Amino acid sequence: MNDCIFCKIINGEIPSIKVYEDDDVLAFLDISQATPGHTLLVPKKHVPDIFAYDADLANKVLTKIPLIARALQAAFPTMTGLNICNNNGAVAYQSVFHSHIHFIPRYSDQDDFSIHFGDHTEQYNTEKLEAIAAQISAQLEDD
Ligand code: 5GP
Ligand code: ZN
Repeated sequence: MNDCIFCKIINGEIPSIKVYEDDDVLAFLDISQATPGHTLLVPKKHVPDIFAYDADLANKVLTKIPLIARALQAAFPTMTGLNICNNNGAVAYQSVFHSHIHFIPRYSDQDDFSIHFGDHTEQYNTEKLEAIAAQISAQLEDD
């Protein structure tokens, strides 16, 4: 993809600070370090988001997640946690439409990073939850 910034990074057309590379993936520092060590893992093949992964690509990319996680843990002794995020779609905060996985090392609860789920427990009884689960499982029956 010509206009994709991460394809340009993979092809060496624009610079990046690399931390890991193999035939299938590249890991490099996010230009805006949410916390020190904030790393992006991307497939070398251009796919826009997680919905475009087949089993082969998932095997090539997602199996590298623990590798990067452990490297960060070993590299930063003061790291006490790690958020791993994969945003899909603008509404889910995706801004670069070449699939990528964020690794955000956590050092304290004052880090400039947060996730807010909200507590909606009281709005769902077992019946509602089972209906939602059935909707999802019906799509997984052939997989
Ligand atoms: P998203 O919002 O799509 O989940 O994350 C995209 C990330 O890519 C952002 O955290 C942003 O800082 C990072 N980013 C955008 N452009 C560049 C770039 O040219 N180089 C690097 N290293 N990171 C970038
Ligand atoms: Zn791309």
